[in-house]
Amino acid sequence: MNFGLTSEQQAMRDHVRALLDDVCSMEYAARCDETHTPPREAFDALARNGWLGLIAPEAYGGAGGTPTDLALLLEETGSHFEELGLWLFRNFTYGCYAVLKHGTPEQKQRIVPGVVKGELSFAFGLTEPDSGSDAAALKTRAVAHGDGFLINGRKVFTSGMDISDYVLLPVRTNDLGRKQLGISTFLVDTRTPGIEIRKIPTLGQHAIGTTEVTYTDVRVPGSALLGELDKGWAICEDTLRYERLCLSAARIGAARRAFEYALEYAKTRYQFGKPIGSFQVTQHKFADMKVMLDTSQTMIRRYAWLMENGQAERADTAVIKYYIAESYKTIADMCLQILGGYGYCMEYPMQRFYRDSRLATIGGGTSEIQKNIIAATLGL
Ligand SMILES: Cc1cc2nc3c(=O)[nH]c(=O)nc-3n(C[C@H](O)[C@H](O)[C@H](O)COP(=O)(O)OP(=O)(O)OC[C@H]3O[C@@H](n4cnc5c(N)ncnc54)[C@H](O)[C@@H]3O)c2cc1C
Repeated sequence: MNFGLTSEQQAMRDHVRALLDDVCSMEYAARCDETHTPPREAFDALARNGWLGLIAPEAYGGAGGTPTDLALLLEETGSHFEELGLWLFRNFTYGCYAVLKHGTPEQKQRIVPGVVKGELSFAFGLTEPDSGSDAAALKTRAVAHGDGFLINGRKVFTSGMDISDYVLLPVRTNDLGRKQLGISTFLVDTRTPGIEIRKIPTLGQHAIGTTEVTYTDVRVPGSALLGELDKGWAICEDTLRYERLCLSAARIGAARRAFEYALEYAKTRYQFGKPIGSFQVTQHKFADMKVMLDTSQTMIRRYAWLMENGQAERADTAVIKYYIAESYKTIADMCLQILGGYGYCMEYPMQRFYRDSRLATIGGGTSEIQKNIIAATLGL
């Protein structure tokens, strides 16, 4: 869909698409999924071609791209391999956006050029065993220790921690009444002594996946603090808004790829002497999916525009997160049905879309929580 795109943006998208056609085929994505191996070769190819610096200013080696540019890049990446898109999104959101917006000059200089070159990767450790949707109820604690801090606690679902160099870590540094107060965010080196990482087996997201992380007397320097002490919740909320743009863009790409695969299948699979795509019930499924895809793309372009113009509200983010996640889940399910028994086979790619898409309505804030955020603005 070229709607609202400049000719430079269309050329950029076509360039990324051609590069990824080359280095990230569907067979490559399937191999990474089956062997639980991160798509390092494809990541490195994107880095070599300068795409990991898309949103960083030129002073840090980047291209100074806009949220629309970023959404295009992640949609293309997600269409080739969703987990590659999610790896990129973590680096863009936590390693670039959060550090550039809230970091000190020293932090920006230490971290952003490495992210731009693909030498540094990031994870985000917000969720804990007892605080998921109620994320601000987190209990992992940092106390002052010499000229730095000592961190103790446990996080769950820190995706990509085992392949990351830094984790953006929200922890409690004070008890100030309301749970949102007294939280601080730290940029923690993942190799610091006292950090223990355990992989969590999951239904999908097998190439990189997610982890449980225990922090036992983890010493971090004062320079690890991102933003002001005790005021980290605002950084979490701001970062989550950016995260939801990125996640949604990657998921539109994945949904589009599942759709295209099923469409081709429906044209070439014959039953009762006809292609299954000639049955009206199949055509209606494709019509429904096309409407969901077009709506998703229109919504993300609008949301990126709102971000670029400083007009994106919390509820706007919830609207795109909710709709695009639910659409992706529905599209993957419908596509699997169109492939019949082959959709259910591990030798065909549709099962991966089905498994991976199931996370969309949970990770990054559940659909129920997005609906709470939307409804809260309606004066009910
Ligand atoms: C594979 C995977 C990767 C992830 N990656 C990361 C990551 O990198 N970093 C990170 O910090 N987190 C990550 N998460 C965590 C994810 O964001 C949480 O799982 C999610 O926010 C939900 O929290 P929970 O699982 O504790 O569920 P809960 O909060 O316990 O919710 C359980 C159910 O109750 C519902 N519910 C809860 N409260 C309400 C309410 N007030 N109103 C209505 N319904 C409600 C939920 O919608 C859900 O259906 C990941 C999760 C998974 C599974």
